[in-house]
Amino acid sequence: MHEEHHHYDVVIVGGGNAGLCAAQAALDLGVSVAVLEKAPREERGGNSALTGHMRFTYDSVDDLAPLIDDPDPAQLAAIHDKLPSRTKDVLWDEVMRTTAGLADPDLLKVHVERAYPTILWLRGKGHSWTPNLAPTAGNTMQMDGRGYRLQERHFTSVEKSGGQVFYDTAMSELLQGRDGEVVGVRALTPEGGVTFHAKAVVLACGGFESNPEMRAKYLGPGWDTVKMRGVPYNTGDGLNAALAIGALPHGSWSSCHASPQDIARPAFTLPSSVPKGGLRTSRYAYPYSIMVNTDGYRFVDEASDVRGRTYAKMGRAVLAQPGGVAYQIFGANARRQGLLEDYDRNNATGVTGDTLDDIAAQLGINAENLRETVAAYNQAIQPGPANPNPFTLDGKRTRGLTPDKSNYSIDIVEGPFEAYGVCCGITFTFGGLKVNPETARVQHTSGREISGLYTAGEMLGGLWHWNYPSGSGMMAGAIFGRIAGTSAARAALAN
Ligand SMILES: Cc1cc2nc3c(=O)[nH]c(=O)nc-3n(C[C@H](O)[C@H](O)[C@H](O)COP(=O)(O)OP(=O)(O)OC[C@H]3O[C@@H](n4cnc5c(N)ncnc54)[C@H](O)[C@@H]3O)c2cc1C
Repeated sequence: MHEEHHHYDVVIVGGGNAGLCAAQAALDLGVSVAVLEKAPREERGGNSALTGHMRFTYDSVDDLAPLIDDPDPAQLAAIHDKLPSRTKDVLWDEVMRTTAGLADPDLLKVHVERAYPTILWLRGKGHSWTPNLAPTAGNTMQMDGRGYRLQERHFTSVEKSGGQVFYDTAMSELLQGRDGEVVGVRALTPEGGVTFHAKAVVLACGGFESNPEMRAKYLGPGWDTVKMRGVPYNTGDGLNAALAIGALPHGSWSSCHASPQDIARPAFTLPSSVPKGGLRTSRYAYPYSIMVNTDGYRFVDEASDVRGRTYAKMGRAVLAQPGGVAYQIFGANARRQGLLEDYDRNNATGVTGDTLDDIAAQLGINAENLRETVAAYNQAIQPGPANPNPFTLDGKRTRGLTPDKSNYSIDIVEGPFEAYGVCCGITFTFGGLKVNPETARVQHTSGREISGLYTAGEMLGGLWHWNYPSGSGMMAGAIFGRIAGTSAARAALAN
């Protein structure tokens, strides 16, 4: 039996947002493009299909209006009130602050400069945005139809432009020419091995979050058994294939994005769940709660910053608790302020009780400690108004606790009391490959670049460390996907 062979100018591995932005950018330059996707067609879209928004810069709401199909002046005014702008300086500072100053400045410069122009490029391809001002929102704007519709539009547009998508096709190996240049990939399909010959290859097949062996190896003990928030396909294949030919690892291989998830969430999420109503298992009202472990003790500042700048590190804090679980505790005051509507809509797993002892008994939390923790918290809240919202800090803090709560300290005095169980859910891994920021071409451990090899999306390392501002993964995927696709097409045309 002889193996099947295909020939394309550019082969893109992975049909997430990064891969499809790369495909679109390459197609725009007139080259032939194949997209290889490991998932079957009915589960296409990657983690990108499960997302909501991209974090980009805007100088005023005047920059947002053109992104909305039918802008409503009242909604734009509401955004103006909540977050009138996110300038380049602010975005730079947000990334540096959340990553403890470790973000690669050369990559970040490109990220910050090209965020809004890339949004306009996407707008030009038919994508649109809608305002989002919910109390647990990550941003003022979300993609129209969220990530699922964005991905559907991407596939339609790539295919219309002549790109060919191969489903059930798992890249397993990079092929090299005599001088080490990448000249294609080998892939496995249900029918057997297939070779794709190419003048340039873009790897955009995600991190290693779906691979328990790699999670344990790089993230550490306990990470092998965590639940995934996303698809089960991102098993580090692209990273392993690239490392095997000498690609240089970059960024934080021992940290990842992981957030508080409903304690009863399933082990992973498939894109086909979205049109059936979706799995909405994120439990992001925690800044308005106190979180306790089963011993009844707090373990983290629930609101050191706004939700969108703390949630990605909060999963790690939950995982470190006994049994890897925690409980978000609210009193009637939080409910009255409408902060739990998202939990009601999405069937959050929780209990209600007239007393804290009631709650402790139902959940197996140490009752005495819980009572003491809540009493000490209530007593430590400093005077002044609370203003719980997802975009600005209110400074309503406690003093004298270990750890203190820095914002949104809403009392837990009056019942009924509510407690919601959360576990750690891994979103994606941060460790990736070193690239030239201007071209997204992958570097070799020798310091030279690997001819013919580009990367984008979760596979690109160096931007995120330990934490990140929400919406940045999709934004970086679009920016560097577009750069990678353009560079790969140019290389193919020059070849
Ligand atoms: C539930 C959830 C919500 C999120 N919400 C947001 C959000 O609102 N905003 C935001 O910015 N980020 C969000 N993220 C993170 C975001 O999904 C990622 O940053 C982004 O999708 C990365 O894009 P990507 O193209 O690199 O990866 P993906 O979209 O995961 O695409 C990778 C693709 O590669 C395929 N693949 C894997 N291995 C192979 C192989 N060997 N051969 C061929 N194909 C392969 C996979 O099947 C997949 O389709 C969220 C993630 C999750 C899980």
